[in-house]
Amino acid sequence: MTTLQPVRGTHDLLPQQYGKFQRIVQLARAFAQIGGFEEMDVPMFEATEVFARAMGESSDVVSKEMFTFHTKGEESVTLRPEFTAGAVRAFLSGGLQQHLPLKLFMHGPAFRYERPQKGRQRQFHQVDFEWLGDASPEADVEIITLAAQFLSVLSGKDSCTLLINTLGDAQSRAAYKEALVAYLLPQRAGLSADSQRRLDVNPLRILDSKSAEDQEILKAAPSMQDYLSDSAARHFACVQSALSHLQKEGAFPQRMRVSPTLVRGLDYYTGVVFEYISEAGELGAQNTVLAGGRYDGLVAQMGGKPTPAIGFAAGIERLMLLMEEKHGEPVPRTHIVILPLEDVPSEWALLLASLLRFNIRELLDKSALKRRCTVEVYWSGSLTKRLSKAAQRGATHAIVFGGEEYQNKTFKVRDMQTRQEEVTGFEAFTDNRKIRSLFGMH
Ligand code: ATP
Ligand code: MG
Repeated sequence: MTTLQPVRGTHDLLPQQYGKFQRIVQLARAFAQIGGFEEMDVPMFEATEVFARAMGESSDVVSKEMFTFHTKGEESVTLRPEFTAGAVRAFLSGGLQQHLPLKLFMHGPAFRYERPQKGRQRQFHQVDFEWLGDASPEADVEIITLAAQFLSVLSGKDSCTLLINTLGDAQSRAAYKEALVAYLLPQRAGLSADSQRRLDVNPLRILDSKSAEDQEILKAAPSMQDYLSDSAARHFACVQSALSHLQKEGAFPQRMRVSPTLVRGLDYYTGVVFEYISEAGELGAQNTVLAGGRYDGLVAQMGGKPTPAIGFAAGIERLMLLMEEKHGEPVPRTHIVILPLEDVPSEWALLLASLLRFNIRELLDKSALKRRCTVEVYWSGSLTKRLSKAAQRGATHAIVFGGEEYQNKTFKVRDMQTRQEEVTGFEAFTDNRKIRSLFGMH
């Protein structure tokens, strides 16, 4: 029989990789907490309309990348390609409007039907930050800075570059769109097929095109900066000057570049948009690790009252490529292996394992001890084999007992490093102070 394989574009997170994955989520959660973002979750699938309405029918995600299917009740549902649309749907259907301003943190899998390659999967994972109810440029600066600090702690260096742009408000955007279309229409035939289509449905997306023919035509295109309304221009200037100030004071760790062609792929963006890219090459062609922007129009578009909002998301698989191998101080470990010999009733070993697990767990919860503890029983094989397996797995202590010890109700506790043995009674495993001294948990 052939071995079954994971579906194209999906991947397992095997135990060796899962530690890294988990550290990223923990770090994102720590930054969410310090920034006042509350954690929540939304369903992994929604009514298709939630995404279609939020992200725009003409966006790549909605037009090409959604995993959509019909339930048995014939409802069209879609696996979430991102978090923002679902979060806004939850904000409205969960009655969170009275609780503004709101800062939300989410993480989990997302799904897009794309061509799989390095850093691009069909099931991937995101951490996501959303801030609803604050229209100020200061909110933009805060969230952009929080993202920068998260990336710099994660990678152990300041290796990312911030690309930032503004799409202006609705009025600026309409004026610019008109100017861009007027410039591009006479040259329509020279544009790529994709961009010819975009010219009708979403001309701003042409700026984002990677095709060489489009880029050539765009060189002389009008610039968004010249069409910004006063308030949009002021907002963007405030954000830039605050970021430069923070950078000068050493509080903004990344490089920064204004990128007039940065438009982002989804229709809901308005105002400031940004991306963090890595130029060091570890991510290959998919060099955007984190991306976001303002979406002041989305809540109203989804049926709520106009509510300003800004957010960002980062792909965990791309963050894993960016992350330094050794991250943070290693947490000290205690790994106890219980080795009952054949002439011991198994209940005796089960009791020891169960009590020891419960007591150590309680000790860790109550004390400030930062330590990873494991208690395992190796049930079968010769003592020599089991001891060598314990050593292989990095056990710190082995508890060995046979018929004789069982009669005397004693145990031999072996320090796997020094190979010294100590004989103890059962009470040593029930008293916190004794547990700490016996297993060197300080
Ligand atoms: P790209 O231009 O790479 O397709 P995007 O603009 O579609 O990115 P967003 O919708 O802004 O991406 O998602 C935010 C982040 O999620 C990206 O910066 C990236 O880190 C991650 N991401 C998006 N799509 C994928 C994918 N298919 N596989 C892995 N990570 C992804
Ligand atoms: Mg994409």
